[in-house]
Amino acid sequence: MQLQLSIKLLVASASVLSLGVPGYTPPRSFGVQVQQPTPSEQAQELTPNQPAQSPSQPGRASADVQALVALGPRVAGTPVMDKASSYLLEEYRKAGYVAEVQTFTYSKFQDLGSTLTVGSMTIPGRALKGSLAGKLMAPLVAVPNVGRPADFASVNVKGAIAIVRRGEIPFLQKAQNAATAGAVGLIIVNAESGNFSGTLGGATPIPVLALSGEQGKPLLVSQAGRASVRRQSESLEVSLNVNTREGLVTGRNVVAHLEGVTKPSVLLGGHYDSVVGSPGANDNASGTAVVLEIARNLSSTPLARQAWFVAFDGEEDGLQGSRAFVKAAQPQLISGLKAMLNFDMVGVNKQLGVGGASSLTALALAADPKISTFQSNDSSDHASFAAAGVPVLFFYRGQEPNYHSPNDKQVDPRLLDETVRVGQEVVKRSLL
Ligand SMILES: [Zn+2]
Repeated sequence: MQLQLSIKLLVASASVLSLGVPGYTPPRSFGVQVQQPTPSEQAQELTPNQPAQSPSQPGRASADVQALVALGPRVAGTPVMDKASSYLLEEYRKAGYVAEVQTFTYSKFQDLGSTLTVGSMTIPGRALKGSLAGKLMAPLVAVPNVGRPADFASVNVKGAIAIVRRGEIPFLQKAQNAATAGAVGLIIVNAESGNFSGTLGGATPIPVLALSGEQGKPLLVSQAGRASVRRQSESLEVSLNVNTREGLVTGRNVVAHLEGVTKPSVLLGGHYDSVVGSPGANDNASGTAVVLEIARNLSSTPLARQAWFVAFDGEEDGLQGSRAFVKAAQPQLISGLKAMLNFDMVGVNKQLGVGGASSLTALALAADPKISTFQSNDSSDHASFAAAGVPVLFFYRGQEPNYHSPNDKQVDPRLLDETVRVGQEVVKRSLL
C-alpha cells in the first residue's frame, strides 16, 4: 500500500490540569457522575513504593464510548475526526497529560457508490481498489471460466462490458486480459454468496466492478448462451457506473503522556476511526475508551511515567495511523518499548481474549486466568509495532454481528471495565 508521509507534531503546548482544582468542570451531558478525587489522592507522591493504581470509576469508559458514537461515523479525513480528536485531547489533558495531535497524510481510494444497471434493476457492486472511475453503457458479454486470454478468445467482447467469475488468476490479469480483448469494462462475480472487496494492485485502462454471487451468477448464465454468437442487436445493454475517487487524506493520531516522559517502556493504543456508515461503538470507540480510562487511573501513579497512550486514526484504511506513528518515532522510543498493548473491539462478547508475544500473554493470564488466548494476526494496529520488533499484546473479544455496520452502536459497560482492569494489571506486571 502506498503511504505518503508528512508527519508533523502539532500543539506542543502542555495543558496540565488536575481534577479537582478550582475551575474544573466535569464533562457535560453523558449522564455520568464524575467523582472528584480526594485531597489525599491529589497529594500522592510519585514514589516507587506506592500502590500502583488510583481507584477506577465504573462506567466512565462507557460514557466516552457514548460521547464518540454521538459524533457519528468517525471516518479518517472527515470533519468528525476533528471533533473526536478534540474530545480525546481534552479528556487526556483533564487527566493531567500532555496531549498532542500527530498528523499524517496518505492516499485513499474511495468507492462513492458503484452499480450495474440491467433494465430497470440497479445492482450495488464494489469498485475494485485502484479501478478507473467511469460511467458507460454497453452490451454485457459473459466470458467463460475465469478470464484467461483463451477464455476471452472464445467470445467477442469488443466494445462490450465483460463479466467473468472470480478466482484462479489475479484481478489485475482478468482486467488486463479484458482490455486487451477490447472490452470497455469488467465485472467480476464472486464465486460464493455475498460481495467481496478486492485490490487491483496495478493500472488498468477500464473500470472494474465486483458483484455478489447471488446477483452476478444469473447474469453469467443468461449471457453465456448468446456470447459465442453475439450480435449487437441481441445483446443485453447494461449501464456500468464505477464511482470512485482517489485523494490525499490527513489523519490525526492523538498522543498523550505525562510531561517530560520521552522514553516510555509501554505504549497503550487503540484506533478511534471507524468505517463509512458505522458509528463504531465496539470497533473501536471501545478500545479507545479503555486506553483513556487506564490513562486516567494511572495518572497519579509512578507507572504513568513509563507509559504513552495513543488513539490511532486511519486504522480502517490499512493501519495508517500506527504505521505513521512508528515511522515518525525516534528509533530509541521504539527500541525502548517492552510492550505495546493494543485494544480493538473489547466492548461486546463475554470472553476477553489476548494474542501476541508469549511473555505478555503469560502476564495477562497471570493477571486473570479466565481470559482466553488466540494466535495474533496482523488485523490491527499492534501489527505496525510488531513489524518494528516491539513485543505486542492484542486485546480483542472476537467477531460480532454488528461489525462494520450501522448497528455498531452499543457496548457493555461492564466488559469495558473488565478490560480496563486486566489491561491495567498487565501494564503493572510488565513494568515490575
Ligand atoms: Zn477495529
